[in-house]
Amino acid sequence: MDEAQTADVAVIGGGPAGSVMAGLCAKAGLSTVLFERENGPRYRIGESLLPATMRQVLPLIGAQDAVDAETYIVKRGATFCWGADKQDIWTLAFGPDQADDPPLALNVDRASFDEILLSSAQKCGATLLRGHDAISVGDGDAQQGRSVTYIHRESAKQNALRARFVVNATGQMRLNIPELDAREHSHFFRKVAVWGYWVGGGRLDAPLEGNVFFETLETEHGTAWVWYIPLRNGLTSVGVVAPRDCLANLRLDARTGLANWLATCPRTTELLRNATPAEHAPYDQVSLCADYSYASKAFSAPGVVQVGDAACFVDVLLSSGVHLATYGALLAARSIKATLSGAIPEDIAMAEYESRLRQEFAVFYAGLSGLYDMEKRSQDYVGWLRALLQNSNGVLMEWGQSLDNPGGLNVDGASCSDADLHAQVQRNLTMMRGYNSYQLAYEGPPKATPIAALPAIRNVLAIDEHGEWIIPAHTIRTPTLATSVT
Ligand SMILES: Cc1cc2nc3c(=O)[nH]c(=O)nc-3n(C[C@H](O)[C@H](O)[C@H](O)COP(=O)(O)OP(=O)(O)OC[C@H]3O[C@@H](n4cnc5c(N)ncnc54)[C@H](O)[C@@H]3O)c2cc1C
Repeated sequence: MDEAQTADVAVIGGGPAGSVMAGLCAKAGLSTVLFERENGPRYRIGESLLPATMRQVLPLIGAQDAVDAETYIVKRGATFCWGADKQDIWTLAFGPDQADDPPLALNVDRASFDEILLSSAQKCGATLLRGHDAISVGDGDAQQGRSVTYIHRESAKQNALRARFVVNATGQMRLNIPELDAREHSHFFRKVAVWGYWVGGGRLDAPLEGNVFFETLETEHGTAWVWYIPLRNGLTSVGVVAPRDCLANLRLDARTGLANWLATCPRTTELLRNATPAEHAPYDQVSLCADYSYASKAFSAPGVVQVGDAACFVDVLLSSGVHLATYGALLAARSIKATLSGAIPEDIAMAEYESRLRQEFAVFYAGLSGLYDMEKRSQDYVGWLRALLQNSNGVLMEWGQSLDNPGGLNVDGASCSDADLHAQVQRNLTMMRGYNSYQLAYEGPPKATPIAALPAIRNVLAIDEHGEWIIPAHTIRTPTLATSVT
């Protein structure tokens, strides 16, 4: 093993979460090393993005121009053949109202999109170590630092780096860090996803041609649904999300299982009328994934934090994965910068990250599980989802509508008091961990939880004009915590 190197921040994993994290830390002047095990572009599912990622996070690492220069598919929202109005299609448009100029998002091929983010992180000043697999993270904290042991895959040469802060952004199959290993899996989203790619698939009529399209179907184990994501170069990503009990049969022959299900969906069948299964790698495969809905019991320990899928993932429906990954990376990067600069104690900074991300997780969890209620009319889904998803702390902030607003869900004009910072952040954290646990353990029928029933955390930190955490003087208010959980 070579002599140990040092860095302020070591980020493990070069997906969207890791690249945003590394770019933001490097831009703040922290020496940052980003480990990515793959040597070049790699396939990843997760092609449908939300406006929050495009509009607020990408510009922060300078990735906007490169993304705009690509020919990715522009989308204005999601279109459904779903629920009590299934005979017609209906659309959930992005944006707070039906404005002509709603925030737009993209459908991307992740191999190229993730490369843009990686190179943006490098341009921000991060050192990228490609083809390097991190194999363990040592004990420590932000004072002593932690060691990352890694191996160069080609030469099998092992090395170590000591960083003041380590970020685990290794995705769903994350690197095991014993203090952060425990995960709670969702009982409600016990699903299996099966997907493949088609060439020459049809598109919805303008202006919906870039929209993700969803259509429900019935399986032997209950209701399932199709995603149909238009990609560039005539490619379409098509998958089915079904009850997990379907997994055994899919394991026998996933390609036939997927084809049989799609054949029962009239709208999808019509869209695929002139399409053929893709024959070029990596799109020639039919893939399976199950047990992907979970949250880690803790997102951070002294000197180390988990972001992106390594921390949590809700469900495939409505494309929250890359949003939670990039929004979480933004929050956690603020917390690391504030900790390492000595501006804010580590426990406060990291609790702020975790409780805000958990709140966003809670909002999406509520929204997506309620959408599985197949009895509602389209206007009910749309009205309720708009209220829920467009009023959440994270999404509002990412849209730049309240960057200087420390609140979000919890801005209620409560009077100020000298509440203790540590007690307040602990209260937030305990409440959000408890609420996420409650959500993950729930296995009853789908229910459309209203936004008022979600816990409202009292955000402790505010954001200054540079987008960094500050402790605002006299802004700690008497908490008005939601006590009821429906
Ligand atoms: C079926 C399915 C469909 C989905 N569809 C969507 C969608 O339409 N829209 C959406 O937003 N999300 C979707 N998602 C979720 C989305 O794929 C993830 O949320 C997103 O990729 C998370 O980003 P990440 O950076 O956390 O992890 P990843 O994108 O998984 O990146 C992790 C990176 O870490 C690297 N790595 C792992 N271990 C190590 C190591 N030890 N050392 C060095 N490098 C390492 C990997 O090579 C990889 O590049 C979907 C998920 C599933 C299961």
